[in-house]
Amino acid sequence: MNKHAGAVSELVDQLGRLPGVGRKSAERLAFHLLRVPEAEALALADAIRKVRKDVQYCSICFNLCESSRCAICSDDSRDATRLCVVEQPRDLMSLEQSQAFKGVYHVLLGRIAPLDGIGPDQLTIDSLIDRVRTGNFVEVIMATNPTVEGDGTSLYISNLLSEFPVQITRLARGITAGSVLEYANREMIADALTGRQKF
Ligand SMILES: [Zn+2]
Repeated sequence: MNKHAGAVSELVDQLGRLPGVGRKSAERLAFHLLRVPEAEALALADAIRKVRKDVQYCSICFNLCESSRCAICSDDSRDATRLCVVEQPRDLMSLEQSQAFKGVYHVLLGRIAPLDGIGPDQLTIDSLIDRVRTGNFVEVIMATNPTVEGDGTSLYISNLLSEFPVQITRLARGITAGSVLEYANREMIADALTGRQKF
């Protein structure tokens, strides 16, 4: 039973749904928000409202952006013959920070995870296949995370792409199996990109 009343209880419940936030942390955050100046607390609410209202997925690569096409897809200086496939926008950000890749991206918005009920249809795989079919790509780099599910997703996609005349590669395993791109440092990611190997 929730021991807090009404509005506080509601806030604790909402905060407690965030990933990595347990009951105790949710309570701590809720009381912090009650203690700080009202404007500061409301700025958080506004930031959440704004991000949900203004941020959308790029119509080409499914990166996050505030218009229909992201900055990378709009940039003519990028190498439009190399396509890097990642699970999430945050993985794209990690790869961009390494500055080792000048091509374009495709964000899957997840990975195939049968145990969580996530199948290929819930990802952006159809759009990816369309892009490869109609684009001029010479290489597709599978940069899903080196986890069982990430590897399975890459394998599934590489099978679908095998009918097209593109080279399919994947990141070198400089990134320890099980670790995720999000937490890898720039040098590790750059090494993984430079040393990429045939799928
Ligand atoms: Zn884009």
